[in-house]
Amino acid sequence: MASIFSRIVAGEIPSYKIAEDENYYAFLDINPVAPGHTLVIPKREEDYIFDLSDDELAGLMVFAKRVAAAIKAAIPCKKVGVTVLGLEVPHAHVHLVPLKRESDMNFAGEKLTLPAEQMQDLCERIAGQFK
Ligand code: AMP
Repeated sequence: MASIFSRIVAGEIPSYKIAEDENYYAFLDINPVAPGHTLVIPKREEDYIFDLSDDELAGLMVFAKRVAAAIKAAIPCKKVGVTVLGLEVPHAHVHLVPLKRESDMNFAGEKLTLPAEQMQDLCERIAGQFK
């Protein structure tokens, strides 16, 4: 069965899309640890990130770099943090989180559920900075 992220790529499930190219897709995390928290995935479904080929992994990180630049331009922050967990969704993904302080990257704490209008606004602001 296709992963929830493959279904997002296929357009079967809605997402707050930030950017995509032929091989990669970026969208807002639905339960962010901080506003602007974005996921970057390979369109090809693979559970464990280190089972990607070298080229796919390199391409994922280079695409994530462009997404991180857009987040940094759109959201006031010091840096954009990078984490890979993958314990919940079996489709490789990189978490990008705008950081003002270390605690902004606390995945063990309570996650946010932001109003749809705020998610849409964050999405448009970040997507608008993607180059
Ligand atoms: P993990 O697999 O542990 O890295 O966590 C999966 C992440 O995917 C969590 O941060 C979830 O909030 C996020 N997530 C799960 N379903 C969706 C969805 N439909 N749209 C956006 N983000 C999602």
